[in-house]
Amino acid sequence: MADWREPDVIRVAPVPLYNTFEEVFAFSQFFENALDKQQHIAIAGAGLVGSLLSIYLARRGHQVSVFERRPDMRKQTVDAGRSINLALSNRGLRALDDIGLTAEIKKAAIPMHGRMMHDRYGKLTFQPYGKEGQFINSISRSNLNMVLMDKAESLGVEFSFEQRISSVNLKRPRLTSRIKNQASSK
Ligand SMILES: Cc1cc2nc3c(=O)[nH]c(=O)nc-3n(C[C@H](O)[C@H](O)[C@H](O)COP(=O)(O)OP(=O)(O)OC[C@H]3O[C@@H](n4cnc5c(N)ncnc54)[C@H](O)[C@@H]3O)c2cc1C
Repeated sequence: MADWREPDVIRVAPVPLYNTFEEVFAFSQFFENALDKQQHIAIAGAGLVGSLLSIYLARRGHQVSVFERRPDMRKQTVDAGRSINLALSNRGLRALDDIGLTAEIKKAAIPMHGRMMHDRYGKLTFQPYGKEGQFINSISRSNLNMVLMDKAESLGVEFSFEQRISSVNLKRPRLTSRIKNQASSK
């Protein structure tokens, strides 16, 4: 269980509502405007969005704790979840640029210029993803996730794994997580 040092200043970011890197950026700006510095912010979920958001918030001076229901994917293989690879386009690259990770991520990226359609008569049609010379980048989802978590930790973000947030009380504020069938409140 994570050592919760400032239980009276917890904020919970409803991460699953913010599904793209652009939305994370907008959301972190909301925090910038709405919260004083040095707030203690809890994020549920160490997926792509939770990990990226934690970096933006930590850079802005907040203390950030991330709770993830799965084990740490850097230490043991976990279910790949949605898909093994994802396609990173300009939008995602912009968010990574801002935290200085584009070069590292692009090293392992495979350019995808378009898709090939196979019709029932065996005819092939190429559908480009952009203008000539443009492409999107196929990258390993788990690798991107791990790079983001490493970066977040280097900025002081604390990750707690195998902790499923089961309820949140925003008035008090307090959150409850479940660790291997035990409930604990913070
Ligand atoms: C089939 C498929 C293919 C996709 N392909 C692409 C693509 O090619 N390119 C692209 O840009 N996007 C793609 N997407 C969208 C992309 O997956 C999402 O935008 C992105 O994963 C959202 O990140 P997230 O962190 O919000 O969610 P997730 O990556 O799902 O992470 C959520 C995390 O929260 C944890 N969690 C959930 N509930 C709790 C709880 N109660 N307590 C603690 N932890 C919890 C989960 O274990 C998980 O680790 C795809 C989506 C799908 C479904």
